[in-house]
Amino acid sequence: MHAMTKIKWHYEQMTSGIHVALRSEKELANVETEFQDVSIFETRHLGKVMRIDDGIQVTTRGEHIYHEMMVHVPTLVHNRVKNVLIVGGGDGGSAREILKHHGVEKVVMLDIDEQIIELSREFLPEINNGAFDDPRFELRIGDGAEIIPQYSNCFDLIVLDAADPDGGASETLFTQSFFNNCLSALKSDGILVAQGGTPYFEPYMMQSMVSRLTQAFNNPAGIYMGGCFDYFGGSHAFIWATRSGTINTLSLEEIESRFNKADIQTKYYSPEAHFGSFFLSKDMREYVNQA
Ligand code: SAM
Repeated sequence: MHAMTKIKWHYEQMTSGIHVALRSEKELANVETEFQDVSIFETRHLGKVMRIDDGIQVTTRGEHIYHEMMVHVPTLVHNRVKNVLIVGGGDGGSAREILKHHGVEKVVMLDIDEQIIELSREFLPEINNGAFDDPRFELRIGDGAEIIPQYSNCFDLIVLDAADPDGGASETLFTQSFFNNCLSALKSDGILVAQGGTPYFEPYMMQSMVSRLTQAFNNPAGIYMGGCFDYFGGSHAFIWATRSGTINTLSLEEIESRFNKADIQTKYYSPEAHFGSFFLSKDMREYVNQA
């Protein structure tokens, strides 16, 4: 099952008419779990890659961009994050980043597939980097959509770190009822953040999430942008939603002060990247307005 050396190409259908092919230099794992097909392989330029079904989930060369922007932007905006829920996130990158914050007391991660966590532990330790063994970390195995109704008014931050809903196990995490339950699980001043895909290739994903979250939260959801390495398409959209329909867009000086106080090490995230992420290009603003 593990450690094959045959060179092979892995294809991802980005969108209709665009396929990306990655040459694997070494296959590390190919597993058919109860829920999904998982492969982990080494590449020359992207480092190790984890693919689930037909989609790239994470690369060791570029995951920091996604995970740092997904986690540090809302955490520093909120500024008093203690209790966090991650839905999906089986590679452990989101957990690793949130656990860097000393004020965080508890991180609950709901993932449907225990084997993803085991494979990530074994083959991608540079991504989870001890997060699964942190005493503040709790893993619950099951469909996030079925477990989340058990939480009410619990979390300062909810991170939706699931693969795109392309007919796989994550479909349940993109439904209106799931987003309604996220709202109930969030504290009154909490922030929800979700990966919204790569809008230049798949604007419909970001638009449908903005529109569903807007409906669930009964107030406008919005986006901020980050660089994109793992998924191609130039830039990555992160969706935010709050009960008030606003997010505290801090001044650069305020972000710098909070970041310095947090005293965390990052590779991509910087106060400037954070500040700039809320200023949308004209086309991106139009995509959001069409949601
Ligand atoms: N960053 C990635 C992306 O943008 O594609 C997501 C990576 S993470 C590995 C996705 C995780 O979501 C996987 O570990 C998978 O098992 C989990 N997942 C899929 N469907 C789920 C569900 N219904 N409930 C909870 N976790 C789910």
